[in-house]
Amino acid sequence: LSERLGGVFDRLTKAGALSEADVVSALREVRTALLEADVSLPVVRDFVKRVQDKATGSAVTKSVTPGQMVVKIVHDELIRVLAGEGEPDALKIDNPPATILMVGLQGSGKTTTTAKLAKRLKEKNGKRVLMASLDTNRPAAMEQLGILGTQIGVDTLPIVKGETAVQIARRAKTQAAMGGYDVLFLDTAGRLHIDEVLMDEVQAVRDLAAPRETLLVVDGLTGQDAVNVAREFDGKVGISGVVLTRMDGDGRGGAALSMRAITGKPIRFVGLGEKMDAIYSFDAERVAGRILGMGDIVALVQKAQETFEAEQAERMMKRFQKGLFNMNDLKMQLEQMMKMGGMQGLMGMLPGMGNMAKKAEEAGLNDQMLRRQVALINSMTKKERANPDLLQASRKRRIAAGAGLEVAELNKLLKQHRQMADVMKKMGKGGAMKQAIRQMM
Ligand code: GDP
Ligand code: MG
Repeated sequence: LSERLGGVFDRLTKAGALSEADVVSALREVRTALLEADVSLPVVRDFVKRVQDKATGSAVTKSVTPGQMVVKIVHDELIRVLAGEGEPDALKIDNPPATILMVGLQGSGKTTTTAKLAKRLKEKNGKRVLMASLDTNRPAAMEQLGILGTQIGVDTLPIVKGETAVQIARRAKTQAAMGGYDVLFLDTAGRLHIDEVLMDEVQAVRDLAAPRETLLVVDGLTGQDAVNVAREFDGKVGISGVVLTRMDGDGRGGAALSMRAITGKPIRFVGLGEKMDAIYSFDAERVAGRILGMGDIVALVQKAQETFEAEQAERMMKRFQKGLFNMNDLKMQLEQMMKMGGMQGLMGMLPGMGNMAKKAEEAGLNDQMLRRQVALINSMTKKERANPDLLQASRKRRIAAGAGLEVAELNKLLKQHRQMADVMKKMGKGGAMKQAIRQMM
């Protein structure tokens, strides 16, 4: 995936200025790349559409190409989809003994992950942990957990031959309660495919164990299949999160994207090797970076955006200090306000402007209004923006028509600009503005 996307964006970044059609065609290629990387079709569709919507509305930062901008937007959107709410690594282990049910296909890494998490809880959180294997099909699997337990210094439930999974779970619960354990891990039997009998067994175990967490362990190297597994387990058993294993391999990470989108459940941990310490909290940014493989471009755009904003603020400060405030300044202010969550947000920060903000809100100055005002300013010529005094009736009619609005609305804007310019002039003289803007930054 990284390679494919890399290729797409290579072409984009070298293309210089991009037309809208170029962006659309680039996203078509992104779509193909995601599909080839085994991200499921509905997820790809949804993802591409969202990126397209965002890209279309947003400006390209100075000194980056539109292609680079698209990289940043794709990257940000990937993070947004991948990131869950809250801290991914905070397992619910209150109300001891808290049961954590581990489910997933055979060979996905359940037993290994169980031991890794047990070790982590013991060492990082100082918890007393008990582990039990419910894998009655394969005695070797039960022994495997015992061996890992000895290795990491975590207790395992003694093996009793001939018990069913539910019986083992019941014994484990009792043992955990009596032994004063904080956490009980139930490592369920693997299955090669989704299988009714085994699914019923997991349901029965879940009903008895009432787990605080049910973690689905998925091999990060499986692609499209991972989605079916996630959907199936979430539907039948109900999962609270996903652990992606084998992310140390050269997997494409596509599974992470579609599982997150399909189940809506957070990816909590990532397995990065066979060693007992090789487990990490899920980091959406890192995984997004890996899926995209364009970290340097993302960093470049970020830097450019920061620089641009700093320059803009600096320029604005210099003008305000001189008491200058034309339509371009107002436009910048309006756009800033939209970004910062409305009038109150920005004006509230300037001393003496809180009242004005309140009045403006009372007068119905909301985000929609801000957008209309920006549209009006946009349809002014350069000269008009620099010198609003030029605006007499005919120019006003032209500007309002250009923005698809009434002249009355333009008059309101002009009045507002005059009021603000007056304030700026006063503050500029007193040097108060310099102070106020310094504080804002
Ligand atoms: P289970 O059948 O789901 O219990 O899977 P196991 O825990 O037995 O793991 C199957 C194999 O995958 C073992 O050889 C593990 O060492 C290996 N494994 C598990 N997690 C990881 C991982 O994150 N990275 C790598 N490279 N191997 C892993
Ligand atoms: Mg196992």
